[in-house]
Formats: sequence, C-alpha cells, structure tokens
Amino acid sequence: MSVESVVQAGYLVAAVLFVLSLAGLSKQETARRGVLLGMSGMGLALAATIALALDRSERPVGVTAGLILLVLLVGAAVGTWRARTVEMTQMPELIALLHSFVGAAAVLVGFGSYLAEPGGTVHLVEVFLGVLIGAVTFTGSVVAFGKLSGRLRSSPLLLPGRNWLNLAALVACGGLLWWFLAAGASGLFPLLLMTGVALALGWHLVAAIGGGDMPVVVSMLNSYSGWAAAAAGFMLGNDLLIITGALVGSSGAILSYLMCRAMNRSFVSVILGGFGAETAVAAPGAGAEPGTYRETTALEVADRLTAARSVIVVPGYGMAVAKAQYPVADLVARLTARGATVRFGIHPVAGRLPGHMNVLLAEAKVPYDQVLGMDEINDDFPATDVVLVIGANDTVNPAAQDDPASPIAGMPVLEVWKSREVVVFKRSMATGYAGVQNPLFFRENTAMLFGDAKDQVELIVQAL
Ligand code: NDP
Repeated sequence: MSVESVVQAGYLVAAVLFVLSLAGLSKQETARRGVLLGMSGMGLALAATIALALDRSERPVGVTAGLILLVLLVGAAVGTWRARTVEMTQMPELIALLHSFVGAAAVLVGFGSYLAEPGGTVHLVEVFLGVLIGAVTFTGSVVAFGKLSGRLRSSPLLLPGRNWLNLAALVACGGLLWWFLAAGASGLFPLLLMTGVALALGWHLVAAIGGGDMPVVVSMLNSYSGWAAAAAGFMLGNDLLIITGALVGSSGAILSYLMCRAMNRSFVSVILGGFGAETAVAAPGAGAEPGTYRETTALEVADRLTAARSVIVVPGYGMAVAKAQYPVADLVARLTARGATVRFGIHPVAGRLPGHMNVLLAEAKVPYDQVLGMDEINDDFPATDVVLVIGANDTVNPAAQDDPASPIAGMPVLEVWKSREVVVFKRSMATGYAGVQNPLFFRENTAMLFGDAKDQVELIVQAL
C-alpha cells in the first residue's frame, strides 16, 4: 500500500472524527467527548500530513523533518503559552485573532501556490477566491480583535455611502479577476491589487458594525475563516482541509443565523453594518439618569434570599470580568440546599462570546439542569421572588422592548423586571457594551449592589 493511500484513509477517519466532534459539542453533557474526538482528529490529520510531506519531499527527508519539527515546536510553544496565560474575559479577542491567522494563511497559501505553479483557469480562480476570502477575513478579524479588546472604539465607523463603497470594492474585484485570468502566469499585479482592495473591504465591513451586533460579526468571521481554509484546501488539493473548512464555514454560518435570530436582526442588515449608529448620536442623552436608584447591601440581599422561595440568577459579562462564577455556584448550591428553587437564565449573547456564560458555569460545576436559556425561562419571572443580575446589562435592558428609538430596540431580553425584586450587581452606573442607559436600574423593584461582583457574592455567602 502506498503512503498516499494510507494518508487518504487517515484523512477520511480524521474527517469523520471532526463531524463526531461537532455532534458532541452540541450538548453540554457530551462536549468533553466532542473536544477529545476533535483533538484525536487533529492529531491524526497532522500525522498524515507530515507523512505525506516526508514522502513527497524533494530535499533529503531529514531536512524536511527538521523543518517541520521546528515549526511544530515554535507553534506548540506559542500556543501553549497563550492558552495558559489568557484570561477567560480575553477569549473572544483571542478567537478573533486566531481567525485572522486563518485568513493570513489562506492569503499566503494563495500567493505561494500561484508563484510555484500558476496552473490552468480552475486553479487561477481557486487562488483568486482563496486570497480574496482570506484577506477579508484577515483585516476583518484584526478589527474585531481591536473592538473586543477595547483597542478600537466599539461604535460603528459610518463613512458616507458606505454600502456603495463595499459594492464598488466587489465590482473592482470582479474586474481584477477578469484581468488576472487573462494574464495567466504574469498576473501577479492584478492579484496584488485585489489583495489590497480585499484587505480594505474586510477592514471597512467590520469597522462599520457597532455595539450589540458584534456577536454576529464574531461568528460570521468564524464562518469566513472556514471558507478561507476550504479555499486553501482546493489550492493545495487537500481533501481534509476542504472538508474541515466547509464544516467550520457552515457551522459558523448557522451560528451567525442563530445569533441574528437571538438579537432579532436580519443577517443582511448586520453585514451591511451601521447598527448602533444611533448610540453615537444619542450619546449625550444616554448618560443622563432617568430617575433615582436605590442602593442595597450584601447583608440586605442575604436576608431577602433567606426568605425567597424562587430565585433566578442572570449572569453577564461582569461575572466573567469578576471571575465570580465560583462564589455564585457556591451561593446557588447553598440556597438550593435550603429548599429554594434556584435557576440560571442565560441570554444567547450574554458575555462576549457565544456560550460564554455556559462555559463559566460549567467550569464552576453548576449542574446543567439548573441552567436555562432565555426562551425557557422568560415566562417564569413573574412567579420569581428575587432575581440576581450579576454583571449583566444590555441583555436585561427593558428599553429594548419599551423604547423604539433605543439602539437595541427589538432585541429580545430577559424580562427580569417582572419578578418581585431585582438586585443588580455592578460597580457603577456605567452602561454596558452597547453604550445604552438601562432604565431597569431606576425601577421601583430594583436595588443596586455596587462593587466587584465576586466580593459582593462572597459577602452574601458569608452572611448566609
Ligand atoms: P454588558 O456588556 O452589557 O454589561 C456588563 C456589565 O458588567 C457592565 O455594565 C459592567 O458595569 C459590569 N461589570 C463589569 N465588571 C464588573 C465586575 N468586576 N463586577 C461587577 N460588575 C461588573 O453585559 P451583557 O452580558 O448583559 O451583554 C453582552 C453585550 O455584549 C451585548 O451588548 C452583546 O451584544 C455584546 N457582545 C456579545 C458577544 C457574544 O458573542 N456574546 C460578542 C460581542 C459583543 P460596571 O462597569 O458599572 O461594573
């Protein structure tokens, strides 16, 4: 049996492992198995690719093996270091940055494969599309990284006629494709020109998206990175890369669709950007306080919780910042042991990453059956004694329902204000990610518990 056929068989098994991994990841109970299957698939894919590279090597095998070992060591060292040092709150920006690597890789593979062997029309189209998708993914992800890490302002960049600019860029790329195909082996110049246009397009597409729409952008870039990898697979004639890229591309597209539905936004309007524009215009008024708020203390909250029969905890980005998931899990376990019904209500875009809150709660070993999605729990608030809003803001903002002029109007929210009493844990009266004031804080049945969420929850646990 030739090395080639063994490698192809290995690729097939790896592809099946990736599909099983995705299936496992769809449920919390099987997620660990899903990750293990994914890791095994990736291990097998790497081994098969290295075997193929050694088999096809034109240099002495030892030199090729040494080079591969060197890049593997450097990659593994950087990856391990970053994975160990990254804070949970920095995960979204890290993922955005990793997407940019996939984009950059597709661009480099495109240029590499064109310079080595320009090939026929089909290969030229593959190269062109691969570089185009890769370049858009690269700069788009870099901007997303900047916005998520606070290095760039999260408000949208609104250039005049911005949709026409995007359209013009696409038309220009169409013209450059025609030129590139006509030029064949001497088409480096149109390829470089298109790369410049695509880099600008990716930058502009994501810069124009602001505030609350970022979750969709993150999953959209995830999808783009998959298509960029699939394009690289076509250029390299690597079936596994095509399959893996298509899996990532389509699952990212499904996730984008689900995020759009969760935010009641149409996919096209998100891609065309500009959402959150009103936030910037309304900024002076947004800081104004529409009334007075009531402050409470950890001791008072502990008293209320002692008397409560039903409690819902609504976590948000602030819980991740404060790393409050462990004391929160402890608090919930104590209340449950005393006979209260305690559940978590999770908004689909809470935090900065799809599934962010679920990951934190799983880390703190909260039983899965206590963790409910927005649709499952929204009708239960009127029958709830106390709601603890821990570091959530935009996802519990009643203005999304009551104020048609609000930048987040129409976004489904957790209707916490319908419960008997709401306690909001945060450090100040500052706004959330979308930069919108939250009328919840000024409602009669809301009390503010200021301070770091972890410290405050620990004080409540002590008092109990
Ligand atoms: P928000 O980002 O709206 O608000 C978080 C709140 O946590 C802030 O008001 C902040 O107030 C508070 N906070 C921060 N640190 C602490 C701390 N140490 N202790 C206590 N409180 C703290 O949170 P949500 O989760 O409700 O909403 C998520 C937002 O992020 C949405 O707008 C969503 O669209 C967006 N987004 C979501 C993504 C996703 O995929 N899930 C991706 C990108 C964006 P203060 O400063 O006063 O403490």
